Amino acid sequence: METKKREVLKIEMDSLSKNEEFARVVIAVFMSRLNPTLEEIDDVKTAVSEAVTNAVIHGYKGGEGIIFMEASAWEHTLEISICDKGVGIPDVEKAMEPMYTTDKTGERSGMGFSFMEAFMDEVHVESALGQGTCIAMKKYIGG
Ligand code: ATP
Ligand code: MG
Repeated sequence: METKKREVLKIEMDSLSKNEEFARVVIAVFMSRLNPTLEEIDDVKTAVSEAVTNAVIHGYKGGEGIIFMEASAWEHTLEISICDKGVGIPDVEKAMEPMYTTDKTGERSGMGFSFMEAFMDEVHVESALGQGTCIAMKKYIGG
């Protein structure tokens, strides 16, 4: 069944690591209207989880803040944006390089953006220092 009209979802959530699981579940339910395969669902959940984790850990540095998630489904296309009003990224191109991380604890591998790019068809990052970061992603489902 095709979605004829663009359908939209908008959510604001506290910057808490437990909301990563919430965002994964919500996006899986929302995208089900596009009749995705299990693999497509897993891909999108992974990308969303990486973006939300980045907002929590890097954008707001574990402190308070709001994460904005929007999704839209139209015909075979799923579009998702995940935005924060946190610290911003000084050099987006560098941040998106595989294995680049500013984490000093050794817990992070710097692969979040690489996963988003691998699992989604398009990933665009907009960021401004001191203002925040927006990740816009697109995936063609069941095409
Ligand atoms: P991993 O995702 O593998 O745990 P990581 O989060 O460091 O490690 P990426 O997700 O690829 O790796 O992000 C790379 C770098 O980009 C981060 O180390 C951080 O410096 C910066 N970054 C990513 N997202 C944000 C954000 N929302 N706000 C500020 N900085 C960010
Ligand atoms: Mg990351």
